[in-house]
Parts: sequence; structure tokens; C-alpha cells
Amino acid sequence: MKKNLETLCVQAGWTPKNGESRVLPIFQSTTFKYETSEAMARLFDLKDEGYFYTRLQNPTNDAVAAKIAALEGGVGCMLTSSGQAANFYAIFNICEAGGHFITANTIYGGTYNLFGVTMKKLGIECTFIDPDWDDERIEKEFRPNTKCFFGETISNPGGNVFDIERFAKMAHKHGVPLIVDNTFATPINCRPFEWGCDIVTHSTTKYMDGHATQVGGAIVDSGNFDWEAYADKFPGLCTPDESYHGLTYTKAFGKKAYMTKLVSQLMRDLGSIPGPHNSFLLNIGLETLHLRMPRHCENAQKVAEWLQANPKVAWVNYCGLPGNKYYELGQKYLPNGSCGVIAFGLKGSREDAIRFMDNLDFICIVTHVADARTCVLHPASHTHRQLSDEQLLEAGVAPDLIRLSVGIENVNDIIADLEQAMEKM
Ligand code: PLP
Repeated sequence: MKKNLETLCVQAGWTPKNGESRVLPIFQSTTFKYETSEAMARLFDLKDEGYFYTRLQNPTNDAVAAKIAALEGGVGCMLTSSGQAANFYAIFNICEAGGHFITANTIYGGTYNLFGVTMKKLGIECTFIDPDWDDERIEKEFRPNTKCFFGETISNPGGNVFDIERFAKMAHKHGVPLIVDNTFATPINCRPFEWGCDIVTHSTTKYMDGHATQVGGAIVDSGNFDWEAYADKFPGLCTPDESYHGLTYTKAFGKKAYMTKLVSQLMRDLGSIPGPHNSFLLNIGLETLHLRMPRHCENAQKVAEWLQANPKVAWVNYCGLPGNKYYELGQKYLPNGSCGVIAFGLKGSREDAIRFMDNLDFICIVTHVADARTCVLHPASHTHRQLSDEQLLEAGVAPDLIRLSVGIENVNDIIADLEQAMEKM
């Protein structure tokens, strides 16, 4: 039976059999028992499916991964211990030393650093493009060794909306997949596969969990990219893997080639699986994702409108505001609402911005975003402080940008807190 997103949030992933636990159990075990040596050997040869070691697979993790795959409409999902790991693995699965990829420059600071600094040390080059450039200028950045294109549906912290359909077409024209970090929109508000994206990543730490109880990530594959059509570009998927008895992923697993390589090669060798207890917490969050997202958007829309009308506010970026640079893209990709995150700047100095944040009552300064509690952060002083002023501007982060993550409290209380903090500035 085909189910709607709301039902998938609550029900997908764990279907108990007769007499089994109604709630997803926490399989807090590293190992799984087999009766014979042969039964275990068949698992290692990928001839049978089954659990043997939690770094590779675990029933609690798999149930939550299956739920996220269903929500995004993908063929499979792998959970990781953080969003950082998810973005690294998603690219490293197809782009090794000597490879190159292209990314929008308007992305989360941690991802910017991972791509521009750490992956460079592994021999992987990355070109940062401004999504506002015209096609001709961006297409000049594709090289023979380019392996993928990357962007965030709604960028953190700038709130820019990524033109998924445009960049999917461009990536495909150059024989590479489009990878989209869908953390802020969540599959409730945008399903990137429906716009031609090939692979989706998530920091599940954010709205998916929604309560700030666990750090986690996810990678979902649509199964749509034709790796074999560009076999020379993707030898890791299209030629035999010596570490798996000479098996070729595309031949052995078809649409699940990318996912199988992720789990059986990268997770096997690099680790960083979430603990089953964290996946259990994530699952509880997912059960209400469809209820929380509309409330985040409704509150954020009202707060954005209030900020825009406030004489102490210099500028507001929220794609739900008519006249906003990303309003049209928002209406196209996020017709039911974008997310609760608003970027804005106050009139006055940097110290004024800091004083405003220090004056807030229940709205807390935290290095987090996208959970039930309204929170605030000044990226130039906090999350993005490793970036130079030039890099900050390149990443779409104005030095005066305040990131306000609107929660699901009563919106009048949120506005009252902002108002009293501004009065004391
Ligand atoms: N992607 C986006 C859009 C993010 O906002 C973040 C973190 O803020 C990450 C990835 C990294 O996720 P994590 O903190 O779970 O490692």
C-alpha cells in the first residue's frame, strides 16, 4: 500500500511481527550469533543478507535508515554518526584522490571547511561556485575529472534556496550526479529526487531529530544515476573491487550499487556508524517531523514579517517573504514552507548585535539550529569563525548576520522576547 509522508513518518521502517515489540527496539549489541561457520561466511561474501557486526549493519539503525529512504523516495539509506560524515562519505564514495567536484559556495561552514581544506589534503579538489552565476560561467568549472555537483536545498546560515532542477540538468549534461544536502527543508518540505537530484544527504541532528538529543547523518540514493553510462569516471562502482572478491557493484547490485559500496566498503573501512540508541532517539523525532515542520514554518513566517517591519532591523533573508531574492525559488521548491531558520542583520555595530543576543530571555545562544526550542547564533563569531572575512562573504555570510532558528513555542512569546531584547540594545 502506497503511504503518504505523514504515515511514513510514524510507521515506516519498523513493522513488528506477531508478538514483537510495537516500538522500535534498541538492538544495543555489536554482534549477532550464527549457528554455523558457513552461514557467517556467506554474509562476508555478500551472498546472504544478515547482521554480523554493528559497524556494518544493525537492526535499529537499519529501521531508521529505511524510514528516511521512504521519506525521500530513495532505494536505500545509510546512517552516519554525524552530518559531516554523511557529506564526506557521499562524495568520497565516488570521488577519490585525483578527483574534483563542484559545490555551491553558500553552504554550512563546517562543510565548506571539509571540502576546501580537509578533502584537499586527501588529494580531492573542489571548486566553489556562486549559484547566482550564469550557466556558462559555472559550466566552465567542469573538468574531465569532475565527479559530482553539490549544494544545500536551503543554505545554512544564509537561507539561500538552491535551484535543484537547474543544477541537476547541468550536472547530468556533464555526466555527474547532483548531491543535495536537504537538512533544512527535510523531505516534508522538499523531496530533491523529484527535481532530478541523484543523492540526498542530511544532518539528522537538526529537524529530523528536532529535540537536539543526538548528532547524526544520513545518505539516501535515488538509484537513478546511470553509473555504467560513465564507467570511466566511476571505476570504484563499475570495475571489480579487490577488497570484495573482485565483485563489481553496478553488476552485482544494479540500482543499489552506490548504497552497497557505501556500506560494505566505506563504512567497513572508515567506521562512524551511529550508536543504536541514537538511532532510536532519531526515530522518535521522525515520528513527529510532519507535525513540527509546518509549525516551524508558520512561526518563522510571522517572525520574519515582524523583523522586516522593525526599524531596528537592517535586512532579513527568509524566502517566504514576498520580494525576497529567493521567493520565487522558494515557491517552486518549498510551496508548503521552507524551514524555521531566518537570517537577519541589525542596524548598528557588531557589539549591538552581541548585546541584543545577550539580552534575550528564553531564546538561547547555542551552537545549534533547527530544533523545537528557538535559538540564536552569530555565525561570524561562532560556527564560521574559522573563515576569513573574504571566505565569509563568499559563503554568503554577512559579518552582521544573526541566525535565528525559530522553534515551535507560541509565536507571540518569541516575538515578545525579540522585542524586549531589541529595546535594551
Ligand atoms: N549540513 C548542514 C546543512 C548543516 O547545517 C550541518 C550542521 O549544522 C551539517 C551538514 C553538519 O552536520 P553535523 O553537525 O550533524 O555533523
